[in-house]
Amino acid sequence: MEQIDSVTKLIAIYKKLPGIGSKTAERLAYATLSFSDEEIEEFVSSLKYVNEHVHSCPKCGMKIDTDKCPICDDPTRDESTLLVLIDAKNILTFEKTNKYNGKYFVLGNTLSPLKGRGPDDIRINELKDLVSKGTIKEVILACSSTLDGELTASYIHKILSEFPVKITRLAYGLPIGADLEYVDELTIERSLRGRLDMKEGD
Ligand SMILES: [Zn+2]
Repeated sequence: MEQIDSVTKLIAIYKKLPGIGSKTAERLAYATLSFSDEEIEEFVSSLKYVNEHVHSCPKCGMKIDTDKCPICDDPTRDESTLLVLIDAKNILTFEKTNKYNGKYFVLGNTLSPLKGRGPDDIRINELKDLVSKGTIKEVILACSSTLDGELTASYIHKILSEFPVKITRLAYGLPIGADLEYVDELTIERSLRGRLDMKEGD
């Protein structure tokens, strides 16, 4: 006999999550079936809550659930340094080191000729607008050292070179092809401390 329809639907939803294959999705679906009514209620309401309240900060691009951004609206953060990342979730990787007190900017994507992603698919105009205001003295590029990440970094370097701003990149302490998500805090901290000037280094 085949899986009943309602459970098949639930399995299909779990399979949409990253890193979840058919077997794991099936296990998760069956685990959900043994939730109490209260647990189901909590599960559903937290999904609804994030769906209704979590949005990207219009300035930095970080995911927030309030009107104020804990980074952009914090007057103690150094406005002259901007760390540029691909993905919003990587902000926490840097925050955990407690060694960075500047601001952030999330591009939202990498350029990728193979996947058909060009300049219109990243927040390059917002970044240009921000840098053109003149407050920022250093832009640190923290794109992953994947092929697409490298391409994105050199594109941003080219675009921002018309402004009087220092452009640096994370030091090569990071493994080649590493997704920043999987790099430990100490490596991130070292890579940040030993950052290289892109005008000399590249
Ligand atoms: Zn923000």
